[in-house]
Formats: sequence, structure tokens, C-alpha cells
Amino acid sequence: MSHDCIFCRIARGEIPSRKVYEDEDMLAFHDINPSAPVHFLMIPKQHLENLYDADLRHQALLGKLLGMAGQLAREQGLDDGFRVIVNNGRVGRQEVYHLHIHVLGGPEPLGSSASRRQ
Ligand code: AMP
Ligand code: ZN
Repeated sequence: MSHDCIFCRIARGEIPSRKVYEDEDMLAFHDINPSAPVHFLMIPKQHLENLYDADLRHQALLGKLLGMAGQLAREQGLDDGFRVIVNNGRVGRQEVYHLHIHVLGGPEPLGSSASRRQ
């Protein structure tokens, strides 16, 4: 559990973040470089690099993360839709190698490209 990646450090409170939600398993915080009017990240506190690093042993944790997305999106004012994105590995243009779910939205529809975040 003593991983030194930046999101582990955010989860431990060693690096500040603009928190959206926290419990014993997960943390949600606003992206430092938002790609939409509302852009936050949901992470497990447990260090997993990405979905390659996950399997069915992580079913409950992954289900919890996705299961919280709608509630947190609503609490952030996204009551007319939102987008979730998980970037995995080099081809997926992952920059931070601690699994995270991007949640994006705003008052107007996002860009239509599926290749990037909006
Ligand atoms: P990805 O390309 O999916 O790995 O995206 C990583 C995301 O983490 C990017 O959108 C960054 O803006 C965001 N990010 C990096 N460092 C921080 C930080 N300290 N606090 C909040 N978001 C961050
Ligand atoms: Zn980590």
C-alpha cells in the first residue's frame, strides 16, 4: 500500500486535491487540467495501474467506482448527462499509471470525438 505514485500520494493526503468524495475504498477529486467545465477523477485507494492490472478479484471495487459515478456527477451539477473515460496504457494515452475514471460534463454536449477526452 506504500506506493509512491502521484495518485497514491493524493489518496494518502500527501498532495492536496480538490476533493469531490472520499470513503475507505475510493477518492474522487477535480482534474487539475480540466477538459470540460466539470472534470473529476475517481480512483481506488488501492494502487492498480490500469484495467490490465485488474481482474475479477477487483469486481466489487470496480463496480463501486462505476456505481458512484452517477451520484457524484449529479452532485456536481451534471444532471443532463456526462461521459466516463478510462485511458489504459500507451495506446490509450494513459499519463498517470494509477487507475482512474474520468467523469466529464457541463451545460452543453461535449465534443463527439471518442479518441480523446472530448
Ligand atoms: P490520463 O491521461 O488518463 O492518465 O489522465 C491523467 C489526468 O490526471 C490528467 O487529466 C491530468 O490533468 C490529471 N492530473 C495529473 N496530476 C494531477 C493532480 N495532481 N491533481 C489532479 N489531477 C491531476
Ligand atoms: Zn498509485
